[in-house]
Order: sequence, then structure tokens, then C-alpha cells
Amino acid sequence: MRTEKKTEPDAGFPPGVAFIDGDFCDISEARISILDFGFLHSDATYDVVHVWRRRFFRLDRHLDRFLDNVAKLQLALPFDRRTVAQTLTECVRRSGLDDAYVEMICTRGTAPGYSRDPRQANNRFIAFAIPFSWVANEEQRSQGLNLFISTVNRIPSRSVDPTIKNYHWLDFIKGTFEAYEHDAETVVLVDEDANITEGPGFNLFAVSGGRVTTPGQGTIKGITRRTTLELCAELGIEAGEGALSADRLGAADEAFITSTAGGIMAVTRIDGTPLGDGKPGPVTARLTDLYWQKHDDPAWTTPVD
Ligand SMILES: *Cc1c(COP(=O)(O)O)cnc(C)c1O
Repeated sequence: MRTEKKTEPDAGFPPGVAFIDGDFCDISEARISILDFGFLHSDATYDVVHVWRRRFFRLDRHLDRFLDNVAKLQLALPFDRRTVAQTLTECVRRSGLDDAYVEMICTRGTAPGYSRDPRQANNRFIAFAIPFSWVANEEQRSQGLNLFISTVNRIPSRSVDPTIKNYHWLDFIKGTFEAYEHDAETVVLVDEDANITEGPGFNLFAVSGGRVTTPGQGTIKGITRRTTLELCAELGIEAGEGALSADRLGAADEAFITSTAGGIMAVTRIDGTPLGDGKPGPVTARLTDLYWQKHDDPAWTTPVD
């Protein structure tokens, strides 16, 4: 048998540290078995929290959601919440990163004798810290994104519960290619009633007549989404959940997306057509400023050191 030339194992890897099967290692060395059902069947859940200037932002909320989702999928972690938090912290410490994207994962793993019975599987916990990453790059953040509203339906909530953070992303990937074909930068998918749900890793908000609206159904309950609703309350901005059709979004004064990977980011065009005056709006700007101010607030952050 002839083996093909191997590519460098760390080709294209960002700096970072992972924790897998009980050990910390360089991110380029972290591997799972190809038989892990997390890989073969997307039978896994995960969460992402970020670290900004060596402080975790809303760590408790991310841990709450992760542990909830692990339980909902009848997965079990090999250790308790405190140890999960310590492991994430240790990944960040060892990475030396000041601003980091920190992911925790629980996969179904594999069962003895390669049984297909999920109840027999030995679940696997993985964590890693890599440099902070943004859903939108710097230019997109300053100018605002060009967002495409896809005709692709998000997997129905009755099939895969969207509140459980998951890797069922073929719908998002299809929508992303569709967005690129239309010269847009990113995408949101719709539900069966043609209402907008969310995009690949972010929630959506529209601002009309000073009121802020975000879809209430068919989406993950994003931590940044909830944080944004709290910031609205603090700033005295009227905000809440509501159905968002393409028409309603197109007629909005402003729009923005929210994600742990980048916070609050303006949308200024829908499928190429400018929203309002085509510039990031004042409500978006106020929320973005307060969001980043909160990254020093001890009530919302946890120091790495
Ligand atoms: C993670 C994620 C979001 C954003 O949630 P945050 O908790 O704010 O990071 C939105 N949509 C999907 C599909 C996601 O996976």
C-alpha cells in the first residue's frame, strides 16, 4: 500500500490550547476518533464563550446553557460545572491569549463493541481556546454587513431543537453559498412561515421607529441576544421578541446581528439594497458601545487570572 504525502499537521492552525481525553495539548495536536458519533452523526452539543482582556464574558450563562443542553441530549459530562470552568480557564491560561474564543463540546463518543445504542456510549468532553474570532471582519463591522435572506428553511424546530447549540449546519452552509452567489456577505434562514430565524452563529435584530425586535421562535436563545435585550432595558430602548418577515426587515431603520463571536454588528444592506440611509444606525451604535463597556464590569465578567 502506498501512502500519500502528508500535509504538515499544524498547517493553517491558529495558536491555541485544547483539552481532550484528560490532557491539555497544542490545538494542532487535538484529535478525536473518526468513529465518534459527534463526528459521524453530529450527535453532540457545544457552547462558545469569549475572553476579552483576560476576562470571560457571561461565563455563568454559557455554562448554564451548556449543562442544560448536555442534559437535554441525555449526554453526561465526566465532571462537574466547577471543573468545566477550571478546564476552560486553564486552556486560556496555557494559550497566553488575552482575547480568546473558548469552545466546550460534549460528543456522544463511541460505545463498547461499536454498539449503535446511544445509551451505552462513553461521552467525550473537549475544550479549546483559540484567538478571538469575529463573525464579521473589521471592514464589515465599520461599514455594516450586506445580509442575504435565504429561501433555505432552517431545520424545523420539531426536528432539531434550535435552542440546543448544535452542528447541524448544512442548511446554513447552503445559505452561505447562496449569499455569496448574490454578492452578499452572510445569510439568515427562514422558517416554514417565511419568517426570519437566524444565521450561521448569530441572531438578528431589527430597529423600527425606535423599537428593537428579534425573532422569538426557531432560534437559539443567544447569550448575546439576551444581553442585548438587557442593554436595551438599561438604555430605555423599547425591545422585545416578534415575528420578522423579509418585508418587515427590509422596511426597518436599522438592523444588527449578535454573537459571542463579535458582539453586536451592524447590517446596512439587505441583498444589496441599503437599509435606511445605508450606514450603521444610532441605536446599533449605542448598544455596541455599552456592550463593550460591560466587558470591564465585574458583574458580567470573570477574570482568567
Ligand atoms: C451560537 C449561536 C448563536 C449566537 O449565540 P450567542 O450565545 O450569542 O453566541 C446564534 N445562532 C446559532 C445557530 C448559534 O449556534
